[in-house]
Amino acid sequence: MEKLAIDGGTPVRSRPWNAQWPEFGELERKLVLEVVDSGHWGGVFPFGSQKEKVPQLESQFAQLHNCKHAIGVPNGTLAITIALQAAGVKPGDEVIVPPYTFIATASAPLLFGAIPVFVDIEEETLLLDPEKVESAITPKTKAIIAVHIAGCPANMSRLKEIAGKHGLVLIEDAAQAVGAEWEGHKVGSIGDLGTFSLQSSKNLNAGEGGIVTTNNTSYWEQAWSIVNIGRIPSGEWYQHERLGQNYRLTEFQAAIALAQMTRLEEQMARREKNVALLNQLLASLDGIQLLTMDPRVTRHANHLYLFKLERTFCEMVNKSEFIRKVNAEGIPLTEGYSSLNLNASLMRTIEELTGEKRINECPVSERICQSQSMWLAQTVLLEDENSMYDIANALDKVVRSYH
Ligand SMILES: *Cc1c(COP(=O)(O)O)cnc(C)c1O
Repeated sequence: MEKLAIDGGTPVRSRPWNAQWPEFGELERKLVLEVVDSGHWGGVFPFGSQKEKVPQLESQFAQLHNCKHAIGVPNGTLAITIALQAAGVKPGDEVIVPPYTFIATASAPLLFGAIPVFVDIEEETLLLDPEKVESAITPKTKAIIAVHIAGCPANMSRLKEIAGKHGLVLIEDAAQAVGAEWEGHKVGSIGDLGTFSLQSSKNLNAGEGGIVTTNNTSYWEQAWSIVNIGRIPSGEWYQHERLGQNYRLTEFQAAIALAQMTRLEEQMARREKNVALLNQLLASLDGIQLLTMDPRVTRHANHLYLFKLERTFCEMVNKSEFIRKVNAEGIPLTEGYSSLNLNASLMRTIEELTGEKRINECPVSERICQSQSMWLAQTVLLEDENSMYDIANALDKVVRSYH
């Protein structure tokens, strides 16, 4: 058997990872300079203004995601907070969230006193399990946040049905899913509100930034007001009708986002091609298990290439050690999230707010985080075809070393 690189053998890949991230050029420079030269670097713009970048970004993003409204905000975390508050979620209300996600999904409600309630994920997709949502609903439940993890849409049909039946607000955390679709509908247009991130690791990058989408004009007005220190769209400058913050995006970020949007489709296509190849190459590896994709997912955004160690295989493998071995072969594989229902800071804050020790057991998420899940980042999926073979060869080499 071939000697593993971690034991002094030759790594499968010694060539550097070349994909430039972010990809940018003349257009980014041109649009940012337009902002500098205009002297309009931020602020509130007349509605329908085509001159300023923030309104342009909002209208183009709304179009891209088939939504009536989009609002630029400082980041994806605040986008969730704003969406929840716009829909009327208040301190003390419960918000159902999956435990397998970036911490912001849970901290965004918690930071204004709403209580995240963790509901377990599906074994096959690692997405919020709709069949477990209903039993977690209490009289205090006000909202469900569906997270399109890795860029794969959650089961929006079923979640929408459940939210409708119980009168709950359904929010899509689409921070990882720009461009993704469920049954032909763009994410962010299916639930009551959608939230996106323009943070630098995300598939649409403005350095920092976020977007809230909705088809509901009354939610849009609420969100707009929260973002604009309690003003109302048709009101006077010093007319403040509710408590709000200044959560506006700057013109500079909108300029970058607009330029990056022109590159999105080509980048998505490149990732899709590489993912198709990886799926084919990894499917036959003993010990590796690919996630299943619901046939109603009509487009995956491939923010992460997320997969698992098979359950029987992971019993004889330490996940961290497995990843270190693959890393030594020259592949930037990472561990990914820990299950948020076990996060001490979140659970302590929940206890402080509710006065009770809550235990949200999520055995599937806990086991998968602990011993099975791992991912490659979207930048890896922008590499050449040979890189996908390197990934498969390295995984094959390490997997075989255990057999
Ligand atoms: C990145 C991310 C966020 C937060 O976005 P920021 O712009 O970093 O605040 C929220 N939810 C998920 C699922 C994310 O991946």
